[in-house]
Amino acid sequence: NDVRLPSTTTSYPTEHITKAADKVADTPYFLNNRFVASETTEFIDLHDPATNELITRVPQMTDAELKAAAAAAQAAFPAWSATSVIHRQSLMFKFVGLIRENWERLAASITLEQGKTLADARGDVLRGLQVAEAACGASELLKGEVLEVAKDMETRSYREALGVVGAICPFNFPAMIPLWCIPIATVTGNTLILKPSERDPGAAMILAELVREAGFPEGVVNIVHGSHKTVDFILDEPVIKAISFVGSNKAGEYIFNRGSANGKRVQANLGAKNHAAVLPDCNKNHFMNSVVGAAFGAAGQRCMALSTLVTVGPETESWIPELAEMAKNLSVNGGFEAGADLGPVIHPQSKERIESLIASAEAEGATILLDGRGFKPEKYPNGNWVGPTIITNVKPHMKCYTEEIFGPVLVVLNVETLDEAIELINSNEYGNGTAIFTRSGATAETFRRRIEAGQVGINVPIPVPLPMFSFTGNKKSIAGGGANTFYGRPGVNFYTQQKTVTSMWQAADALSQKADVAMPTHS
Ligand code: NAD
Repeated sequence: NDVRLPSTTTSYPTEHITKAADKVADTPYFLNNRFVASETTEFIDLHDPATNELITRVPQMTDAELKAAAAAAQAAFPAWSATSVIHRQSLMFKFVGLIRENWERLAASITLEQGKTLADARGDVLRGLQVAEAACGASELLKGEVLEVAKDMETRSYREALGVVGAICPFNFPAMIPLWCIPIATVTGNTLILKPSERDPGAAMILAELVREAGFPEGVVNIVHGSHKTVDFILDEPVIKAISFVGSNKAGEYIFNRGSANGKRVQANLGAKNHAAVLPDCNKNHFMNSVVGAAFGAAGQRCMALSTLVTVGPETESWIPELAEMAKNLSVNGGFEAGADLGPVIHPQSKERIESLIASAEAEGATILLDGRGFKPEKYPNGNWVGPTIITNVKPHMKCYTEEIFGPVLVVLNVETLDEAIELINSNEYGNGTAIFTRSGATAETFRRRIEAGQVGINVPIPVPLPMFSFTGNKKSIAGGGANTFYGRPGVNFYTQQKTVTSMWQAADALSQKADVAMPTHS
């Protein structure tokens, strides 16, 4: 009884070209393993960022529909959490296989709705797939502990599911971030209500289809849509016990505060301003390739994009014109085009915001060494284009430095010493990731010890840890002081609560006539 899915989720490799013929099917929601058309009258138009053609409409679901999703997840919880971890793990293995089989379809949906290049979209899927693969080891991760705490007495600890959990996702990784949540939340025995970004829900819809095909029971994974109203529902609905959020500080701080005030567990990864410090003793070629890739790849719309370069000393500063030459030669084009290095930015408003931040840098006295404003690829004149941009002579008070730009813009600051570079980076309020380029082990080690960022790359531009570790931003880049991080063992801890059981099988006082009222000492 499914409604028809929009072509954004079914079309590869030909239909994306003929999407106008699709008559713009609305994106359905996913409830109890069915795709359902919302009865709402409020929709959010979703345009292809490369053309600005309407490709689907995303419903702002009604209150009754949202309540039904919560009820479905709640109804599914008792039976799902009672299944064995081995069973849940076996479904996860199937899910992993299906993601692999549908990899191209997922990537195509991402390119169409989000704009990133197909090669980059494949990476988006891979980084999520790896979390699902790691979740197949849940039986190890869920093991508790046991200790004979005293003679005849032992304590065991168990990790138990929380209940219904919610996830609120950003636009920039339409597959990876839902896959930070779906595998770990479900394999630990929870049921899930996930809200993809209203700007690109297609990949999440495909994942829903794969969840069903893998054999997950009805109500275990539900996909809801909308913007603030849906977020507020997730924040306030009492059956939802925990919330995973990834996105901007504006939304995330609100979500963390309101969710926490409602007594929910919240994990929230927020914005960033990632710095790369470059030392003259580095491998220059590797540094140049790394920074160009990490600053401009995905049109700079990665939370771990290297958006700020700190040149240490005059020699590295003198490399910047060459860097600009490399950036200028990147191919900015529709994401499906062969050889495209970066696609459009997500929305006309994003383009406007990015361009206004470039203009503010100019007004504040910085130099626009490479200006990507006004660029348009011939075949896609109506897309949201910003070409690679490099701003030099930037000072820490400038708006282009204090704000997250989230576009293909690299800002460059110059310092004289490693100490100054560390001080500058540590003074920034964000602390998602940072990188240093050097061949000196001693320099790298000093940087590693003193730097205040959650994810440090030593000659690695985007040091996002694989799923056997956790995503570890700090400072303003993560809410709640970073207590709850995504995936890895901390991800399993987030989605479970501990129960400890202390047992005594042979009562030591079985023959005693007097109760012992002193605190037990376990001697
Ligand atoms: P966003 O905050 O605008 O949206 C994220 C989600 O929150 C969406 O589902 C949206 O519907 C909802 N939302 C947006 N504004 C809201 C509001 N005022 N109230 C309630 N809900 C709201 O973020 P985005 O533009 O989709 O994503 C880009 C941001 O995400 C960047 O700041 C980027 O650094 C950050 N990000 C961080 C990480 C990380 O792990 N640290 C990863 C990816 C993206």
